[in-house]
Amino acid sequence: MKITFLGTSHGVPERDRYCSCTCVSTAGGRYLIDAGGPVADMLIRKEIALAEITAIFVTHMHGDHVNGLPAFTDLISWYFKTADPLIHLPDQTGVNALKCWNAAVLGSAVRDIRYEVYREGVIYDDGHMRVTALRSRHYDLSYSFKLETEGKRVVFTGDLAGPDIDFPRFCFEEDCDAVICEAAHFPTTKAAPVFEKCRTKNIYINHISPRQAPSIEELLASGTPYNLIPVYDGYEAEI
Ligand SMILES: [Zn+2]
Repeated sequence: MKITFLGTSHGVPERDRYCSCTCVSTAGGRYLIDAGGPVADMLIRKEIALAEITAIFVTHMHGDHVNGLPAFTDLISWYFKTADPLIHLPDQTGVNALKCWNAAVLGSAVRDIRYEVYREGVIYDDGHMRVTALRSRHYDLSYSFKLETEGKRVVFTGDLAGPDIDFPRFCFEEDCDAVICEAAHFPTTKAAPVFEKCRTKNIYINHISPRQAPSIEELLASGTPYNLIPVYDGYEAEI
């Protein structure tokens, strides 16, 4: 699978970073984790057709993870009509809001878009990609995701309350090909002992706050028994 980091910023966009959005590409489809930032624009610039997006998984309803959806759902309603992703949100309120926004913008041209409100557990399995959600304590309804496809396993932490409080247990229970960890809500150095317990050789640092950037540099300089890889917008990882 290929992971393309489209937006790697923390809660607000930076000069060189959009808010959270990551595209996971496999032989069987493409999937988005979070939809902050101008998702449709980012996909178009990467020459990824909107119709190729099989499903979208939003970790939680904070704006930097979901604010790209009003524009995305508008565009697939009237222009990119062959796009038909299954959009997973943790809160029915978000589904209602998107339907309301689409109705306001599109009037009678509004179309049925497929939404799924998920809870903890296996939330998606199309026979090629399986996604499991695990609650985190970052927000009322916030989740980490485990993605399994093509014999590989990748964990997205999503936003956390802290590395030692609610780091997803997936990372300790099973071998993972990669862990994608946020770097906005705690110094990355504070996560070092937790990273060492993760059953992976590759830890990608995403959702980067400038406030925490020195701690990423500090951990990189100290040397780690795993690959520590801070990512930027446009970074691609072959897993
Ligand atoms: Zn958040």
